[in-house]
Amino acid sequence: MSRHCPSCTEITDTPILPYINQEFESSGLFLDLRVVYCGSCGFGYCAPDIDDELLNHFYSDVYREDGSPYVTNFQTLRKRRTHDLRSLTQLILAHQFVEFNDGDVFLDIGPGWGNSFFSAQEVLTTPRMYAIEFKNAAAKAYERLYNVETFTGINALTDLGIRPKLILASHSLEHLSLHGLTSLLSELAELICPNGVLVAEVPLVDLRVAAESRGNDAPHLLFFTMESMRQLLENAGFEILFLQSCSRRREILHTIDDSVKKTAPVSLHLGIPGYIRSIMRQVLPPSVKKIVYSVLEFNPSERFSQIDFSDSNFHYGGDRECLRVVARPLSSATYRIGSGS
Ligand SMILES: [Zn+2]
Repeated sequence: MSRHCPSCTEITDTPILPYINQEFESSGLFLDLRVVYCGSCGFGYCAPDIDDELLNHFYSDVYREDGSPYVTNFQTLRKRRTHDLRSLTQLILAHQFVEFNDGDVFLDIGPGWGNSFFSAQEVLTTPRMYAIEFKNAAAKAYERLYNVETFTGINALTDLGIRPKLILASHSLEHLSLHGLTSLLSELAELICPNGVLVAEVPLVDLRVAAESRGNDAPHLLFFTMESMRQLLENAGFEILFLQSCSRRREILHTIDDSVKKTAPVSLHLGIPGYIRSIMRQVLPPSVKKIVYSVLEFNPSERFSQIDFSDSNFHYGGDRECLRVVARPLSSATYRIGSGS
């Protein structure tokens, strides 16, 4: 059938695929979904669009709870002791396009374990830090560990006059509904302060070539290509400052044995080291984990010499698993790095 693409607005044939849900089979949220994608720009989205309230409930009460592959105990979450290279490289990249001063605001949308706040304290000058997050226990952990105030929506920041200089949305946009994405991007274009930037990272999933070979979809609801990411941000009033593939080269993923893929679909995006860590998390009792982690990770004097610059987070371009973008609201387009302004 033909549809108007919500990204590039072309009217094209839109193939309809079954939604693959291997991780949340007991949740009814994904039951009736189909994946639709645009033959022109490759943007993929789910139909019917999921209701906001149901989606918010999923992230506040299901996604991080027992039974989920992403289970996290925020009550016992600890501050990082080593660099988190994903958020570190995201913020270093964004920092090239923004002048971040003392007390400027850093906002993370969907901070997960809060690693970006650790990195922000390293990269940015005394940032004031805020989060958008639905899970109350996560909000308490961000406050306890990083002195971060959390809100459940953009409106609260607007009402308080909090205007971020740097906004991070790392692996969160693909979890939104289609209408949730378009309204969030427009709200962010309004919220962000003059000359501020948005840095976002999402999985790079081009359904025009990967429709048949893809694995699990859930809980992702949106599938981005480079063209569609550009188009969606421009539609919302942003100009693109940087847009490139990032993270691991896709052929590395293909070297993982197929039997591992079958038993561990959840951890594929983490790579083999991530897979081993995820197994450790699941298998070892907390007391043993504490000892193992302390031996593996804790050496504060070496922390700043531990950056592995060959890590794939530092590399861009080619056939990689993710997409990283830096964008600025068009209204502030007069500012240019290197222009002397
Ligand atoms: Zn399109």
